[in-house]
Amino acid sequence: MKVLVFEFNQETNSFCPVVSEMEDYLHGSVLEGQQMRQAVRGGALALNGMFTALEEAGAEIVPCYAMRAIANGPVRQSVLEHFMDKLRGYLKQYLPADGVLVSMHGATQSTEDDDVCGTILAAVRSLAGADTVIAASLDLHANVTEKMFRSADFLCGYQTYPHVDLYQTGYRAARLAIRAMQGERDLYMARACVPMIIPASSYTTETGKFGELVCKARALVKEKVLEDYSIFQMQPWLDVKEGGGTVIAVAKDSAVALKEADRLARDTFDLRREMRTDLCPIEDVIDKALAVTDGKPVLAVDFSDSTNAGAAGDNAAVLEAVLRREHQPQTAFVMIDRPAVDAAFAAGVGARIRMTLGATRDKLRSRSVEVEALVCSLHDGNFRLEGPAMHKVMVHVGKTAHLQVGNCDVVVCQAMGNTGDPQLFRHFGVEINFCQLVVVKACTSFRAAYTPLVSEICMVDTQGAATSKLEELPFSKLPHSLYPFNQNASCDDAAPVQVKGRGMAR
Ligand SMILES: [Zn+2]
Repeated sequence: MKVLVFEFNQETNSFCPVVSEMEDYLHGSVLEGQQMRQAVRGGALALNGMFTALEEAGAEIVPCYAMRAIANGPVRQSVLEHFMDKLRGYLKQYLPADGVLVSMHGATQSTEDDDVCGTILAAVRSLAGADTVIAASLDLHANVTEKMFRSADFLCGYQTYPHVDLYQTGYRAARLAIRAMQGERDLYMARACVPMIIPASSYTTETGKFGELVCKARALVKEKVLEDYSIFQMQPWLDVKEGGGTVIAVAKDSAVALKEADRLARDTFDLRREMRTDLCPIEDVIDKALAVTDGKPVLAVDFSDSTNAGAAGDNAAVLEAVLRREHQPQTAFVMIDRPAVDAAFAAGVGARIRMTLGATRDKLRSRSVEVEALVCSLHDGNFRLEGPAMHKVMVHVGKTAHLQVGNCDVVVCQAMGNTGDPQLFRHFGVEINFCQLVVVKACTSFRAAYTPLVSEICMVDTQGAATSKLEELPFSKLPHSLYPFNQNASCDDAAPVQVKGRGMAR
């Protein structure tokens, strides 16, 4: 059993003006051959789950090429072409193979291609042929297109949000592929479209109605009705011609796969009006923080500027409002600001410098503020995450400075993902337990680590490319038949549920 493994991972926010360049991948991770296996061993990553399942099955593993970057605007086409050249090169060198596994985000747009993941999977299918089993692991926020469904045998998405099951998702995708490679023909994958997009700040799989639905789906697998399920809520800031939510159900019986995919899709759609973000004005959040005297801080969630969702991460709006106050809560704040990082490094530790913070990337939506900052410390920006999501995974945020501005500890860095992890402060000497107000730029991922650490969570009303006010964004491609653009959208009007499997006549 010979299996080739690839990764191409980036989450695109079409409204972020910052194009994802090769530099962002080099900054994230580019791995080739055995390097790929070594780099992810022991890590809470989909690739590691795939490799582990393949090793357990005694497969001959060919790790090929992996590229990972943090969320951003669309990927530069030349970056995608670089990956496609590598992909085709490895396939030509190592085919025939029994299987090809690809780890990807699933909501990736390039400057010229709306369906990057469809393009990758279709290329694999066209070179590998019909007999090779193809499986992909995806984010829960993937946009599962017709092309992706047609090209792959199995698509598996994260089942948790905050995402704490990356490893398990890679493992699930690999296990389904292994079963098919070992000759199990009766494994059918059904796809049902959910005609809606929902802000990622509006739900979690941990609580609420969506949490209950996920429990129900999980029970279907436990009771062996389904072999696998994925409920995809497309990253809603993706402006592409084909988009929306998707349910994938895998079963040993094609009729069961069809029926359960359809049912889960309808149940998901029924929650659309309940999945909303209740916004809190900035001034109210600051007042709440000032009321904290001895105890856990208030968490201000600047989700509209979430870099995890591809927003710019450069909005100083909350910082500006805090600094305007005569009495400022002790605040921890983090943002991307390359000019500020450069200025801090040029001035050195202990220097006091006047500078502008903010709006260096998204000049349209982000606010800036003039400050006098004390440079407390300077860092290379390499550290391990501590929270439950991607626990102990090494991340790189580039050169980073810890600044003291008024009563605020401000961390400025060159790039950041994983903004829901407290290590983004602690590694740079900012202890969030000593603060009254902590500002994070994340949609929901922060809940995994921060919930036990804070007294209250406030979703702040700010501007950004990851806003919950989807109707205010300049969508030009996404079908307006989707909810919330069409308040009368219905599953009955969506594309019919489809099913495929090796046991069916082709
Ligand atoms: Zn996600």
